[in-house]
Amino acid sequence: MNQSDIVIVGSGITGTALARELSRYDASIVVLDRGYDVAEGATKANSGIVHAGYDAVPGTQKAKFNVLGAKKYAALCAGLHVPYRKCGALVIGFCEEDRITIEQLYRRGVLNGVSGLRIVSRDEALQMEPALNPAVSCALFVPESAIVSPYELAFAMADDAAANGVRFIFGESVIAAARRGGTWEVETARGSRYACRVFINCSGSSGAEIHRMVCGTRLKMIHRRGQYYLLDRSAALPFSRTIFQCPSSMGKGVLVSPTVHGNLLIGPNAEDIADPLDTATTSGGLASVLEKAVKTWPSLSVRSNITNFSGVRAHLETDDFMVGPVPGAEAAFEAIGIESPGLSSAPAVAEELSALVAESIGLKKKKEIVPYCPPAKPFSAMTDGERKNAVAQDAAYGNIVCRCETVTEAEIRNAIRRPVGATTIDGVKRRTRAGMGRCQGGFCSPRVARILSEETGIPLCEITKSGGNSRLLSGTVDEFLKGAAEND
Ligand SMILES: Cc1cc2nc3c(=O)[nH]c(=O)nc-3n(C[C@H](O)[C@H](O)[C@H](O)COP(=O)(O)OP(=O)(O)OC[C@H]3O[C@@H](n4cnc5c(N)ncnc54)[C@H](O)[C@@H]3O)c2cc1C
Repeated sequence: MNQSDIVIVGSGITGTALARELSRYDASIVVLDRGYDVAEGATKANSGIVHAGYDAVPGTQKAKFNVLGAKKYAALCAGLHVPYRKCGALVIGFCEEDRITIEQLYRRGVLNGVSGLRIVSRDEALQMEPALNPAVSCALFVPESAIVSPYELAFAMADDAAANGVRFIFGESVIAAARRGGTWEVETARGSRYACRVFINCSGSSGAEIHRMVCGTRLKMIHRRGQYYLLDRSAALPFSRTIFQCPSSMGKGVLVSPTVHGNLLIGPNAEDIADPLDTATTSGGLASVLEKAVKTWPSLSVRSNITNFSGVRAHLETDDFMVGPVPGAEAAFEAIGIESPGLSSAPAVAEELSALVAESIGLKKKKEIVPYCPPAKPFSAMTDGERKNAVAQDAAYGNIVCRCETVTEAEIRNAIRRPVGATTIDGVKRRTRAGMGRCQGGFCSPRVARILSEETGIPLCEITKSGGNSRLLSGTVDEFLKGAAEND
């Protein structure tokens, strides 16, 4: 049985932010995740917007954590060297009903404490964003809205937590948690057992299931998938801000937004599904995204689309986050029902939850914290002089592995050597952008697989795209030829 003070289930944005906060205390902490990397749930597939907080109903947990969390983002991302940009947003309306919604969003935002909100006329909206549909009638201008790379933030927080003693264990799906003799005993699908003083549920789509294991109460969770288009990087993006349409009961609606890396994101739709792990994209879902997006951007073109993806929201029937002690269970805490604006809220959720956990078992702050050591500047962002220096210090900077995104062998090796380093092709892709470009890894994946094998000692044929059974190679040519010769 593995012993620790605290077990956190889930290494999404909530679990990694919490692990980082708790790593500042004198405690042994284990994070368990059923995925094979950090951020394998909703955190890897969302719109990447740090919402300012005008949409959540005042007085709810969503409103409180959204506004507090969004205010922490600029400093958090600067400290962790994670891409973040306060690009602002417009929520656009086309009719009288939309104007009423926009006025309501404005009032909600003011009540929630969002600064700088302003309702702008059609002319001003078009002046700000000339590619908008000229049929727009008014818009809510949200200067505090920002964009971030969600999984890069989760990687950075996990690295920081791990450097300060937190242990991340992947491929561990929690199937039972029970309190025996003042201790939580946790069991996973592959038969591992963990004992801890405090158990924390940050398990995204499994939130309700694990809540029931811990306290016996059944919650209704709806899994709501959203699909996206991601267009190639372009110097001439049609919009400089995030453009939302008016929200509905199913979510914030289809947006068109630049990303921090200069791509254009279009989506998501909203469809309730039975299996939270079903992150397929469908022709019907993508068609409904385009049908709505064209209303924002009449000259919409997806000719430069490089990929489609989907993420699944963990929506509780109560329509609010549940953050705090699990009712009726001793020494158990949770952050569940963390759908949008969960990304925006995570820094504030983690701050409040870590303080509650620390108080509950009398944890003391550490005297010394290991300072965060960021990854080196990407080769693609270096000046010519910086590139020369980098190659002089490490010849692997001279080998470009991903041509689309100009990612070098040195960056890939460094990403694998991070405290919570990449072990899969997708892990390398999300940490370095190798495979994120127009060819989507067609050229670089075999090279990345070889580097992964060299660095980790995992045989080449065992290297996977994203863990589990997602192997790319079934054998070597030598083995194939040997087998063929034996069959002759
Ligand atoms: C389509 C879409 C768009 C969104 N857009 C935005 C946005 O623009 N801005 C915003 O603020 N929010 C947005 N959100 C919400 C945001 O993405 C989520 O609130 C946030 O990522 C939730 O993080 P989490 O860590 O709570 O959950 P997750 O990221 O889902 O992490 C949960 C982790 O728990 C693990 N896990 C699950 N079950 C088990 C188990 N039994 N045992 C062990 N591990 C387990 C999973 O593998 C996963 O890694 C969006 C969500 C979606 C789906």
